[in-house]
Amino acid sequence: MSTVLALHTSDVRFPTSTSLDGSDAMNPDPDYSAAYVRIVTDADDGLEGHGFVFTIGRGNDVQVAAITALSAYLVGRNAEDLLEHMGATWREFVWDSQLRWLGPEKGVMHMAIGAVVNALWDLKAKRAGLPLWQLLGRMAPEQLVELVDFRYLTDALTPGDALRILRAAVPGRAEREAELLATGYPAYTTTPGWLGYSDAKLVRLAAEAVDEGFGMIKLKVGGNIDDDIRRMRLARAAVGPDVLIGVDANQRWGVAEAIEWMSHLAEFDVAWLEEPTSPDDILGHAAIARGVAPIPIATGEHMANRIMFKQFLQADALQVLQIDATRVGGVNENITILLLAAQFGVRVCPHAGGVGLCEAVQHLAMFDFVAVSATTEGRMIEFVDHLHEHFLTPVVLDHGAYLAPLAPGAGTEMLAASRDEYSVTAHD
Ligand SMILES: [Mg+2]
Repeated sequence: MSTVLALHTSDVRFPTSTSLDGSDAMNPDPDYSAAYVRIVTDADDGLEGHGFVFTIGRGNDVQVAAITALSAYLVGRNAEDLLEHMGATWREFVWDSQLRWLGPEKGVMHMAIGAVVNALWDLKAKRAGLPLWQLLGRMAPEQLVELVDFRYLTDALTPGDALRILRAAVPGRAEREAELLATGYPAYTTTPGWLGYSDAKLVRLAAEAVDEGFGMIKLKVGGNIDDDIRRMRLARAAVGPDVLIGVDANQRWGVAEAIEWMSHLAEFDVAWLEEPTSPDDILGHAAIARGVAPIPIATGEHMANRIMFKQFLQADALQVLQIDATRVGGVNENITILLLAAQFGVRVCPHAGGVGLCEAVQHLAMFDFVAVSATTEGRMIEFVDHLHEHFLTPVVLDHGAYLAPLAPGAGTEMLAASRDEYSVTAHD
């Protein structure tokens, strides 16, 4: 038996705004940051659980404070109890009535719970000696269903539905694992498309992306329509007719404005329109989807919880579902969302980039392929080539694909030297 000794937090901020990496129509000067948590036990193996919430600078201290507030729930607890029953552990945090008042199940407190849940999964996978995607991909359907909170979902997804989906994917699990190990999981890149980049830099990076084997790039739009048309024309010329180009408005528009704006970009063959408007506007997204059809709507990186995903799917308000590793309540809730996507037959293209989001979300996409959807058809994980060097096990891309990570854990451990160098305030 081992006991949780401490939950250490740090406020880690990288000064990315100086190079305009990550700039878009709503976020012109992000400083990519992590509200970071490290769970330490008294086990002889010395293994720690690491997790974080991605933020873009100001407010990272608030996010850190929310994570720190969870320390009282963990310190002194039997680690095996927590790790053996991750469904119960998740419910203990998310159903806590006093914490729940701060949401419910949305925003800073819910994301703090997600960071702690992810850190516990990191520790569980390290103890099992497996990368998280393999740990999850080898669990029995009944064990996976136990991780899911079906409250508020049964009008769209019942435990029976989830079991049926997971059992249908049991045959072929080993073959799909082998396929991931051989060829990886498809990726697309947003690296060329930041709004703050010059035309020359956009063209150079777009051409490089094609050379590196990516089948899709994504451009930020929504600042100025003439700039968007010019940049789309340049990008299309740079990548040729066969490479997909998605666009991302980062919530910039109202409903009518989104439809009107996209009428000027449709000629460039847009692969998807991402986050056209407020992430809470279900009916607005549905109206935009009808207005810009056949261009699919992609969203999810800012969606608060599984109940929002359920409603977007019920309303046919998204056609490309973008899970995010640190927005919702951690691994458990993302498994739930993957099951919802499978239930509705919608493809999943995870959001990544930021700090460590590529490292974290690749495990969820690979788990989905092995044990849930059993397909990579039309699916890609976002890739952005920033800040990977700060992680213990950075992602490895080859020919436009994420190679399957082999190191035990969830990929969420940042190097101690990086945490120290970029910490604003030391909380430990
Ligand atoms: Mg986006």
